[in-house]
Amino acid sequence: MEGLSSILIEMMRKIEADTPRNETDYEKNGLLYCGVCHTPKQAIIDIPSGKKLISGKFPVRCACIINARKESERRIRAQQIETLRAECFDDVKMRGFTFDADDGKNADIGKVCRNYADHFKKETGKKGLLLRGDVGTGKTFFACCIANALIDRGIACRCTSFIDQAKLEKKEDLTRFGLVVLDDFGAERSSSFMEEVVYSTIDTLYRRQIPFIITTNMTDRELSNASDPSTRRVLSRIYEACVPYEVSGKDRRRETLKQDTPYYKNILGQ
Ligand SMILES: [Zn+2]
Repeated sequence: MEGLSSILIEMMRKIEADTPRNETDYEKNGLLYCGVCHTPKQAIIDIPSGKKLISGKFPVRCACIINARKESERRIRAQQIETLRAECFDDVKMRGFTFDADDGKNADIGKVCRNYADHFKKETGKKGLLLRGDVGTGKTFFACCIANALIDRGIACRCTSFIDQAKLEKKEDLTRFGLVVLDDFGAERSSSFMEEVVYSTIDTLYRRQIPFIITTNMTDRELSNASDPSTRRVLSRIYEACVPYEVSGKDRRRETLKQDTPYYKNILGQ
């Protein structure tokens, strides 16, 4: 009991230290009130002393202090989220690829990816996604939406490509992320060095059971008819670790270009 009361007294001292008395504070019903938010800065609390309880007037935090603390926690959290976002995307525009920014034109993949993000739990051994489809169907956009949604929940993600990984002097440790997006698989030139980068990246994530999302323009035929052993080796890992999803839809890039063309023609005076 002595221990408990000394802990309580120490707590009160802390509260007293961060709730200084102000000139506008006033007394009401025998307690001190904050002159700004008009909530009490004191409370009558019973604390154990030996075998008895003694009643005393102790400091408590008024609404100003509680709200200021909440605001500071919110700001720290927002900063942490922004740091995660900056770490995830090398390309600044991808930071804006969010489900809120989805125009709903490709509702099927939108739904699949939203569901994936909603059900994602930060634990190893979960499956990733293989998003396959033609150029401009929104695969990269939706893969980034998933990463952004998880980042909003404080989960560290990394969006990269095999080509970018191959450019690094020192190998990046992708296993420290909760989810890795590997964009545009199949766009890399075939060379033994590149094959090694692709295989070791996939294999490391697979072995450490880090979920990953792969986007690719490779056709079903290209994926299923790959004959060289190194591609087959990579694909077998990918199919074990990812749920394949076929993305269909119009070529959005071409559509945007079509929409934008009159605008650019106009501003360029063409
Ligand atoms: Zn106050």
